[in-house]
Amino acid sequence: MSAEPMIDVRRINVTFSVSRGFMAGRKPLRAVQEVDLVAHAGETLAIVGESGSGKTTLANAILNIHPPTSGEIFLDGRAVRSLGRKEFARQVQPVFQDPYSSLNPRRSVGATIMQPLIVHGIGDHVEREQKLLRILDLVGLPRRVVNALPHQLSGGQRQRVAIARALIIAPKLLVCDEPTSALDVSVQAQILNLLQDLRTELGLTYILITHNLAVVEHIASRVAVMYLGRIVEEASVEDLFRAPKHPYTIALLESALTPDPTLGLPDLGLSNVFPNPIDPPSGCHFHPRCNRTFAPCSRVAPRSIVSDGHRLECHLYDPDIMSAHNAHSGDL
Ligand code: SF4
Repeated sequence: MSAEPMIDVRRINVTFSVSRGFMAGRKPLRAVQEVDLVAHAGETLAIVGESGSGKTTLANAILNIHPPTSGEIFLDGRAVRSLGRKEFARQVQPVFQDPYSSLNPRRSVGATIMQPLIVHGIGDHVEREQKLLRILDLVGLPRRVVNALPHQLSGGQRQRVAIARALIIAPKLLVCDEPTSALDVSVQAQILNLLQDLRTELGLTYILITHNLAVVEHIASRVAVMYLGRIVEEASVEDLFRAPKHPYTIALLESALTPDPTLGLPDLGLSNVFPNPIDPPSGCHFHPRCNRTFAPCSRVAPRSIVSDGHRLECHLYDPDIMSAHNAHSGDL
């Protein structure tokens, strides 16, 4: 195993300039703010958050689709900025939410899966066909689907085709953006189990973007919780599910226990709606919705506190903030 992390995201920001309307000018939208993340070879790192949290923008930054505005991403010890597009794509592949829209409807399964081999100039015709048959077996697709078109397959089979296409050039890292949320519930577990098996068999590393905590618990080893562009808590899956600390994470876990898990994250039982990312709240971005908010929260942005591999941004766990607050309260 390489001593370097497979992916090392260092203090990245992704900022867009967005229009506020006619005559109102433009304003920066800080979709990803000061994000640090590390995933080692063989790990599955989940990034979880509501719609608007910035998790897909973060995935796109890692995929080099929309590179960070500032900060640096390293892949197996090398700066992504220094890698050519093809070299990067050989090592990092995406799996998207909707396999139907990510597949060419007029291209057969076989041609779809072999396409990356042609793009990267890998093997001759015979070798490509051998790789195709092997990958079909690996992802659990019958060989007879080689000439089928995407519309002739089930949703689960289409996602298997998308996974096969991603894997045929033997990448090191898969970035999976909601890989099961477009599928029937009955098929979701099959695809998650397939991803698990492939990770073990091929020694892959996964970044998994999801709003579904059940998926996180099923497949991930570490989890980062995003809120308005920031990672507010990160820990091993075991730690986070056993002892969540950030008030937002606690609300997420409580919402996951509601009777209809297909609803996604909210209703979180929190008083305010999700804030506008163009105009985030001052101090801790979560303070208007937080049931533990106290004096410093609306004024001071929490810093990152790390303890025993558990990282979070919340004043409640910052000894300096708490001692100052307690001293001040004692004076009253
Ligand atoms: Fe809640 Fe304050 Fe912690 Fe933010 S810093 S999560 S508002 S207690």
